[in-house]
Amino acid sequence: MRKLKMTLVVLLALAAAMPAAARAKAQVEQNTATAPQGRAKYVFLFIGDGMAMAQISSTEVYTTARSSRDISITKLGFTRFPVSGLTTTYDAGTFITDSASAVTAIATGNKTLSGVINMDPAKKQSFKTIAEYAHEAGMKVGVVSSVTLDHATPAGFFAKVPSRSNYYDIEVQMVKSGFEYFAGGGLLQPTGKDKDQADVIQMARDAGYTYINTRDAFNALRPGAGKVLAINATLQDSGSLPYELDRRSGDLSLADYTRKGIELLSDNDRGFFLTVEGGKIDWACHANDAGAAINDVIAFDNAIKVAVDFAQAHPQDTLIVITGDHETGGMTIGFAGTQYETFFDRVALQKKSFIAFNQEVLSPYKRNTPKAQAKLADLLPQIKDAFGLDYNDLSKFQQEQLEFAFQRSMGDEIERSVAEDQYLLYGGYEPLTVKITQIMNQTAGIGWTSYAHTGVPVSTFAMGVHQELFGGYYDNTDIFKKMASAMNLSL
Ligand SMILES: [Zn+2]
Repeated sequence: MRKLKMTLVVLLALAAAMPAAARAKAQVEQNTATAPQGRAKYVFLFIGDGMAMAQISSTEVYTTARSSRDISITKLGFTRFPVSGLTTTYDAGTFITDSASAVTAIATGNKTLSGVINMDPAKKQSFKTIAEYAHEAGMKVGVVSSVTLDHATPAGFFAKVPSRSNYYDIEVQMVKSGFEYFAGGGLLQPTGKDKDQADVIQMARDAGYTYINTRDAFNALRPGAGKVLAINATLQDSGSLPYELDRRSGDLSLADYTRKGIELLSDNDRGFFLTVEGGKIDWACHANDAGAAINDVIAFDNAIKVAVDFAQAHPQDTLIVITGDHETGGMTIGFAGTQYETFFDRVALQKKSFIAFNQEVLSPYKRNTPKAQAKLADLLPQIKDAFGLDYNDLSKFQQEQLEFAFQRSMGDEIERSVAEDQYLLYGGYEPLTVKITQIMNQTAGIGWTSYAHTGVPVSTFAMGVHQELFGGYYDNTDIFKKMASAMNLSL
């Protein structure tokens, strides 16, 4: 014990005396000493947008609470991975990154400003992505997302734009990338912002892509299909896949898109790089809807399980990396009103996401009900049905909060003087719906601090070839370096 302590002291002193470059080299040598030999030939990068430890841990508590009163957690598939790390997410301009600068860091190893994809903060120089390096090295490349394919996170693997909202430019660059597989959500501006540009879908066809937008055509795809652009038949809000909570049975899931990606891309001597984004974990957390977020973490985990099955058949060649790009919502386990208690079984009562409730219940009600006749009582049965929230079980204070939010949802213009408290109370969302999910979450013991992202680190998990590179506490830019090293890419 004493000898070990002495050795540690000496090592620490040596490490402190070593210059950074030598330390990095020693680190690499130490890693290669324990790592399996060879190159990661089949590489998966799963990104949970807005997913940090609170989202992961809530899902684990929820999964247990559904079936038992035990104080324990049921681990997800990916939280059982042999290696885990912590990853800082600050960008070039703020401690609280957005998805554009976060993906730039992960995909290229460079920090930039929020809103910028794969360009430097001055928006002059552009950066090459891990997917482009992989493609050049002969690997096939796939990009899957549950939100639109031109959204910041998927775009970060093929596009370089000064602004993440240059959707058309991103789509054109997607087609030009020549990557073999794009799948999931839709495209926001396929004929440009003013609908006066060349159609990107046609452009993709001209470039040799097979364009698919039905389930049957998708299921019929076989290896040798060539380059594929597959958009889900059902799109929910802003061109995205439905929340897992709202997905109808038989509709394609993130796991289906991952499985097909493997099937189409693995038909290659040099292997593949497949990135899969669970993009709506973030959207649900922006809206403070824990039920929708948790179910999307489960869908994300199910997609990862497909990759794990593949890895089991190719253990010497496969690397799977899971990370988040940032935390969203300031979610936590614990709320002032419930103190040390949690009631996560209540989350299981939720049957619709906030967006489905808006689209199916609240919007039609607002359209069809004259303001003078509108009353919260009309919606209580649907609220109970969608969220398991019984008005009569709520405290007087909570009932008043719901009434107040209902009035705000039914009102039209908000006076300037109340704009600030309107934002603090409801963000940019439907006041009634956000208040329902907040009360729901609070009774379960889940708290929120924001409708935006937060600056806490995320968790990264790895299994497979060169998994050991991903242990420790490091920056999101290091994920690029670690993957490149595992894939033996010459940068
Ligand atoms: Zn976000």
